[in-house]
Amino acid sequence: MRVMNQVSRPFIRKFLVVYFDDILIYSPDMKTHLQHLRDILEVLSKEKFYAGLNKCSFMTNSVLFLGYVVSKDGLSVDESKVETVRDWKTPTTLTKVRSFHGLVSFCRRFIHNFSAIMSSITNCMKGTKFTWTPEASTTFKEIKVRLTTAPILVLPDFSQPFELHCDASGISIGAILSQGGRLVAYFNEKLSGSKLNYSTYDVEFMQLSLSRRSKLTRLETQAMGFELIRDHLAINPYFGLIMSDVSIDLRNDYVMNNGHLYKDGQLCIPEGSMRLRIVQDLHNEGHVGHDQTFKIISNQFYWPHSRRDVARFVVSCRTCQVAKGKSSNAGLYMPLPIPKGPWTSVSKDFVSGLPRTQRGNDFILVVDRFSKMAHFIACKKTTNVVHVATLYFREIYRLHGLPMPIISDRDRRFVGHFWRSLWRLANTKLDFGSSYHPQTDEQTEVVNRTFGDILRATIDGNLKSFVMGPTIISS
Ligand SMILES: [Zn+2]
Repeated sequence: MRVMNQVSRPFIRKFLVVYFDDILIYSPDMKTHLQHLRDILEVLSKEKFYAGLNKCSFMTNSVLFLGYVVSKDGLSVDESKVETVRDWKTPTTLTKVRSFHGLVSFCRRFIHNFSAIMSSITNCMKGTKFTWTPEASTTFKEIKVRLTTAPILVLPDFSQPFELHCDASGISIGAILSQGGRLVAYFNEKLSGSKLNYSTYDVEFMQLSLSRRSKLTRLETQAMGFELIRDHLAINPYFGLIMSDVSIDLRNDYVMNNGHLYKDGQLCIPEGSMRLRIVQDLHNEGHVGHDQTFKIISNQFYWPHSRRDVARFVVSCRTCQVAKGKSSNAGLYMPLPIPKGPWTSVSKDFVSGLPRTQRGNDFILVVDRFSKMAHFIACKKTTNVVHVATLYFREIYRLHGLPMPIISDRDRRFVGHFWRSLWRLANTKLDFGSSYHPQTDEQTEVVNRTFGDILRATIDGNLKSFVMGPTIISS
């Protein structure tokens, strides 16, 4: 096989197929065929290979190759095999069922839903005892008819697009591979064992991957219904205009290929349910956000306002709504006056609902807007305004002096008269952010969330180290 492949390498796939010592030469017409034949025979004689004349056939329109009849029309079942199957007596032993199954299995690519039809005979081969059911008898007759009337399969042309139609049922999965409306192959597999418990989605996915593995080496377009896209494209007002422009070379940002329109390698999708289906299928693969979904879609498909369509779909996706929270660290930041140095402008917030400890279950969070340094001061929620002020002066003022201004989320403690007059006395302007407009105080809110994450990781369930936790984070 290796030697044969080596010597005939320049011709393989051009007009030659080699399988061990079988050689098949195919040509579009008689004149080229004679040239091809001469080329091959020259190589064979040079390499001292001999062919038995009685085993060769020349200048024929159909030939028996590897058990199939290959002709100018395509691939068909070997007539002698059909005859053997037709004359097959009803099996009486397990061995005979097995050889019948083996023979018809060879022709499975010609029979639609082969596995489903054969399942009753397959069931007869299970176990060690021979049982022939009435269903098996019916199948036996049907398979004979199917094989006698088997279609001719066209040979795949890899320069043309393929169509793959898949279908799955409770007992088997099947696919039909066709090209230009003509059949290339049937693919079928019976489900057994754990595969029987697969959900329809999994079965269909398995079937798609199996049928691709066995019949296709590449699948360039993931959407089905190419014909539909092509038909709708021509009548679409937007793409129709572009197509006519492209056809007379008026514009070069689009490319026409085989009736399809491409923009920078993306397939153009006309208006219709196909767009929604593409968004739905590609979003549902991982329920990623709209930016990511759009990125996946725009890798392969194009239509005007696709980003808007994607965003609309993702926003209304039920799974995403149920599974995902709304908060993210990417909040809307409002520009605040840029601080001139460290600890000249701070924002503060209260972190509450933490485990109760000796020093309280709340924290005052103070973040320097310049260096982003954060201090966490333990306190009790019930602490009065004066106490908060004292704490602040003890912990922050002592170290960093008095900032101006302070951004707070307008906690009632901050709007207390005393607190306000205290700051006014100290010449600090209190900037009233609002809890309902968190962008002003987004900086502290972000630190709050991060603080929660780090705290959980630092404390690791040990409450005694809880009070120390924030101190560690602060420093
Ligand atoms: Zn989703």
